[in-house]
Amino acid sequence: MFSGPMIRPVITLAAITIAALPPIAQSTPSDLAASAAKQLPSLSETYKHLHRNPELSHHEEKTSALLAAELRKLGYTVTERIGKYADGSQAYGVVAILQNGVGPRLLIRSDMDALPVVEKTGLDYASTVRSTNAQGQDVGVMHACGHDIHMTVLLGVAHEMADRKSQWHGTLMLIGQPSEETIDGARAMLADGLYERFGKPDFVLSEHDDSTHAAGSVALKSGPMLASSTSIDVTMRGVGAHGSAPQLSKDPVLMAAEFVVLAQTIVARQIDPQQPAVLTVGMIHGGAKRNIIPEEVTMGLTLRTYSDKVRDQIIADVRRTADGIAMGYGVPQDRMPIVTVSATEITPVEANDPTLTERMRKVAISTLGADHVDPADSVMGSEDVGLFSLDGKIPAMMFRLGAADPTKLAHAVEIGVPLPGPHSPLFAPVYAPTIQTGVTAMTAMALDLLKE
Ligand SMILES: [Zn+2]
Ligand SMILES: [Zn+2]
Repeated sequence: MFSGPMIRPVITLAAITIAALPPIAQSTPSDLAASAAKQLPSLSETYKHLHRNPELSHHEEKTSALLAAELRKLGYTVTERIGKYADGSQAYGVVAILQNGVGPRLLIRSDMDALPVVEKTGLDYASTVRSTNAQGQDVGVMHACGHDIHMTVLLGVAHEMADRKSQWHGTLMLIGQPSEETIDGARAMLADGLYERFGKPDFVLSEHDDSTHAAGSVALKSGPMLASSTSIDVTMRGVGAHGSAPQLSKDPVLMAAEFVVLAQTIVARQIDPQQPAVLTVGMIHGGAKRNIIPEEVTMGLTLRTYSDKVRDQIIADVRRTADGIAMGYGVPQDRMPIVTVSATEITPVEANDPTLTERMRKVAISTLGADHVDPADSVMGSEDVGLFSLDGKIPAMMFRLGAADPTKLAHAVEIGVPLPGPHSPLFAPVYAPTIQTGVTAMTAMALDLLKE
């Protein structure tokens, strides 16, 4: 860590570095893998601790503190609680900087949040945590998206890069990002002046664990890889009444039921089949008692597309469908549905910069071997990591990190039944080879980008 009085010598050193860049020591792929393997016992403990202690989006207090403390121990200059949400509340973002002379600035991002899922893996390090979600419900909490893997990999890479300062020049900027699952964490960090305060990176790297690729391998894709995501709330408002007297009501439960079914016809019958789109009703809340017809029912929807035009069309179709149902039921004008498109739970398409991706593919092949570097597919999943690229102005690349047991994966492919993946209560990455490969691949990529 640098303190005030040390600034002068640092500047002098930087000046010397410009004058004559010292030769950069090379690391070999086997050396990287061996040193990641050496870290594995301690990283595995960290992983299990994180897995047992998941925290929901917006609540990553202890997780971020752990990450910050570990990064400080490795000599990084760490700032905590970076991030301002749209409602003004503070986010638990972590920024860790390791400055090492003059050179490029590389941002590596890990997300930190877990999901409201009751873990059913039966593992001895399974989570039993319960918490209250944003809707006030008591929920189980699980790292069902493997962000605990990402944080562990980040710590492993942080360690390697701190140990290998003779092999690179530049600035490493490690990010612990909160609230990826609610896709408002990256935006919160940027809104809090991330780049103004800590510098704008030249490259952005990240990874996501994946149950469709074998542990020990990574998968890369150039161009768009993850869809845009838009969160929409639809509230069907009616007229409440006694459950025995439906004639006195305008029943929002029945209207919501119709909406859920009709909404499925939007993608199936109103959108060009050549345009990928998904509209899912993932939440439905209404009513308090069996014999009361409630006043309203609220549904939470997620919309995924690869095109803004299609997204806007579907939002318009959602509004029309909700209004049409209400009109059909004779809902009074002042009780028409309310459709809200979230201004914060929204993220653009994640597109991997082609030049950066091809460069990183070469690094991955020389580090892991060609049989361990697969092509990745585009999916309808979304990520807010793309926001760190400032609309593609900064080259960014996310790779998939294989997390499946290779034998189980081969069997799953053979019988056509996929292994439990992210967001499943049964998602269980084979953590040791996954973490080791993540650390090896990401360190090799970082060393390559910071070698000049
Ligand atoms: Zn997720
Ligand atoms: Zn995730």
